[in-house]
Amino acid sequence: MVGKNSSLRDLLRLPQGPVDLTSFDSGAAPGYPGKGKDDAPARSEMIGEKLSELQERLYANGRENPDFPRVLVILQGMDTSGKGGVIRHAIGMVDPQGIDLKAFKQPTEEERKHHFLWRIKKALPGPGMIGIFDRSQYEDVLVVRVEDLVPQEEWEKRYDQINKFEADLAGSGVKIIKCFLHVGHEEQKGRLLERLQNPEKYWKYNPGDVDARKKWGDYREAYEVLLEQCNTDEAPWYVVPADRKWYRNWAVAQLLLETLEEMDLSWPAADFDVAKEIERVNKS
Ligand code: AMP
Ligand code: MG
Repeated sequence: MVGKNSSLRDLLRLPQGPVDLTSFDSGAAPGYPGKGKDDAPARSEMIGEKLSELQERLYANGRENPDFPRVLVILQGMDTSGKGGVIRHAIGMVDPQGIDLKAFKQPTEEERKHHFLWRIKKALPGPGMIGIFDRSQYEDVLVVRVEDLVPQEEWEKRYDQINKFEADLAGSGVKIIKCFLHVGHEEQKGRLLERLQNPEKYWKYNPGDVDARKKWGDYREAYEVLLEQCNTDEAPWYVVPADRKWYRNWAVAQLLLETLEEMDLSWPAADFDVAKEIERVNKS
């Protein structure tokens, strides 16, 4: 349970060293303090209220000071793991004005002309903002590796480049939360079928997802390598069990909340004489 002395970040933080994803239960609900699905909406609402206030403080500080720390949540996971669901249900609880959301798709022709981090740097959150990446630089060592999109000698170097990039970001005050939404193989099958059984979900179905599913083992291995190679203290990975949607949404909201709480955000002081301004308004 997430109590006074333990945090969800401690519980879900991926330990350093070799990673074997089969040893993580995608159906678990570690640290969930309630009963389960039924009380998850109420619990999420409680988090939402706290998140809203802290996000407003962050935003206010960022307006006063462009160098103020910012937050970046990176969401990665296989198709149907629920990146979109997390954005709707967890991130959706805070004021959209304070969110910088970016979804990374196949690089455009323009993007392909540049270094793989070029489009990532352009999408970083501004002062006081919470940045959300739906996919990220990790696609460049994931789909690129599995589908052989660039030569190995090129993608091989990217792990170090990503670590250096993230270390620099952290050094400049970006709090990075990397969430691997861990969905099970059977659960994914059910979710794909669900998309095919409901005309309202056809738009979410992409026949290409089945091709990726056929390479499940290759993707898992590529994930295991990137999780091991790019798991630093400045930019740690959290493995979020994602078979239960209510848990997944609660967990990402809780990870964000713990990060904001640790930032010890106060309201920025007035940069004007308050008493004098009251007088001016009264006289106006
Ligand atoms: P979705 O997130 O379902 O809209 O799908 C986006 C697609 O873009 C996925 O199939 C990703 O693998 C693909 N994608 C994202 N980034 C890259 C990249 N750097 N190189 C190649 N494909 C990518
Ligand atoms: Mg998709």
